[in-house]
Amino acid sequence: MGRKFGYFCSSKNYKMYRSHTCGELRAEHIGQTVTLAGWVQRSRELGGMTFLDLRDRYGITQIAFNEEWDASLLQQARKLGREWVIQIEGEVIARQSKNPKMTTGDIELKSLKLVVLNAANTPPFTIEEESDGGEELRMKYRYLDLRRGPLQRNLMLRNRVNIEVRKFLDAQGFMDIETPFLIKSTPEGARDFVVPSRMQEGKFYALPQSPQTFKQLLMVSGYDKYYQITRCFRDEDLRADRQPEFTQIDCEMAFVEQEDILATFESLLLHLLKEVKGLDIKSVPRMTYAESMERYGNDKPDIRFDMELANLNHLTRDLGFTVFDQAETVLGIAVPGAASWTRKQIDKLTDWVRRPDIGMKGMVYCKVNEDGTYKSSVDKFYTLEQQAGWAKAAKAKPGDLILILAGEDRLTRKASSELRLHIAEELGLRDPSVFAPLWVIDFPLLEWDEGTNRYHAMHHPFTSPKPEDIELIDSDPGKVRANAYDLVLNGNEIGGGSIRIHDRALQSRMFDLLGFTKEEAEKQFGFLMNAFEYGAPPHGGLAFGFDRLVALLGGAEVIRDFIAFPKNNSGRDVMIDAPATIGDVQMNELKLITTVNTQEK
Ligand code: ASP
Repeated sequence: MGRKFGYFCSSKNYKMYRSHTCGELRAEHIGQTVTLAGWVQRSRELGGMTFLDLRDRYGITQIAFNEEWDASLLQQARKLGREWVIQIEGEVIARQSKNPKMTTGDIELKSLKLVVLNAANTPPFTIEEESDGGEELRMKYRYLDLRRGPLQRNLMLRNRVNIEVRKFLDAQGFMDIETPFLIKSTPEGARDFVVPSRMQEGKFYALPQSPQTFKQLLMVSGYDKYYQITRCFRDEDLRADRQPEFTQIDCEMAFVEQEDILATFESLLLHLLKEVKGLDIKSVPRMTYAESMERYGNDKPDIRFDMELANLNHLTRDLGFTVFDQAETVLGIAVPGAASWTRKQIDKLTDWVRRPDIGMKGMVYCKVNEDGTYKSSVDKFYTLEQQAGWAKAAKAKPGDLILILAGEDRLTRKASSELRLHIAEELGLRDPSVFAPLWVIDFPLLEWDEGTNRYHAMHHPFTSPKPEDIELIDSDPGKVRANAYDLVLNGNEIGGGSIRIHDRALQSRMFDLLGFTKEEAEKQFGFLMNAFEYGAPPHGGLAFGFDRLVALLGGAEVIRDFIAFPKNNSGRDVMIDAPATIGDVQMNELKLITTVNTQEK
């Protein structure tokens, strides 16, 4: 901002709509005659004067009209409505009452000439920092919502991050190479969006869930540092804040080991935090998947605050309290300074953990009082010494409150992890201006799926097992760790990738493990396995979720506000009304209508 847009007025032949933007004029311009163009944000009448706020994406400039300067111009100004598009010629003058909140607040424009470029209907909601329009209405008129400051700033940030990513990767020798959208299924674990082929009746393309197979082929072709900021498509049942199409910064490198990838992309993230947020973070800590599950109950821990999960199994069992005695796992969290919470506050939390999506039956609490005594909801089963043991394990200090959940291991771990985040949110510990990145490494290669009764690739089927674990593949596949890693920022996975298999035999073995028949594997991924027989270098990479990364850098967690034209929560674009039905002609052309022969023989 504040840049000179010289090209607007550099040539006499060029139609000059504006000499400056609405965010540009300062005290130093006083005395100059300038031309601005933009939208009427609002106007105020004051006796024989009218003040009008003119807005474009660079800012707002106040325009003054005065009966004494030009009565007919004042009349014209009074006819303008909100969001009309106008051009104003005027003299930059000092403001009587300066507005320190506006970058242009020292000056105003004494109007000399007004041209209406286009009238506008009254917008269905206010185009202000805070709009009065509901979500659905603003989505329907997205082009108006995009005029608002918060969204404009978000898109500018998105552009900034995009440019910084490119600058960084370009300087490292990465090449931006486009890969196709009309392809065949890529296994990233979601359903494909399919596109019927008109020319090949009955056949379908799939839209890429990611460019995974293509980037691996590019490694075989020798483009050893590839990246692309590209759209991916996944037909998932929409969870909150997921978009069916989203953007990845997709990267791949050849002749690398995991360390090289971690170092390269850690530097990218630190570069972004420096350039975009002005933060000097020196390095990104690492934690294994196993440790993360143990300490935080999930694989993307928010490490901006403590409240780690303490395993209280050995300190609670076989002492007469049946709930704990029968539980597979008993986990405690020390909430700082919460010993003073009222019964009502604790009951509210107990109700929260009982919600069906959290799924616990109840919650036990233990107050670590300032005077060194303890008060818990299970006092009659446990002595003070035993409760002191819990406090020690949970690292609770006097004045803290220990919350304890118990039950089946997976469920209890997940619920405790959610409870931890919920409380942190309530205590204001999730400060969006603090950034705590973390690598989570050594993910398991496979994950057992109860539903289908077989293993699934935890990352994707191209991920390579750790060489030292390969021997477990036959005897104990669930124990095999992968050379796979996630980059986590403030409790969100912002990127993930792996070192890939580059050997046909191992890749084929992997497909076996995942339950593919030889024929299925050949049909779906034969091209990749064949390529591995023509000199495939060792390679690996990762992809960042660009939308989420930008949202987090913008201090938000809702990605929709950082995408120009997102879908709503049911995957619809309510502005253009998509998805929609198509006409019979198109249906026929695509052979999507089965013509039923009704004539009896
Ligand atoms: N294709 C992977 C994904 O979309 C990222 C990678 O492994 O590079 O998650």
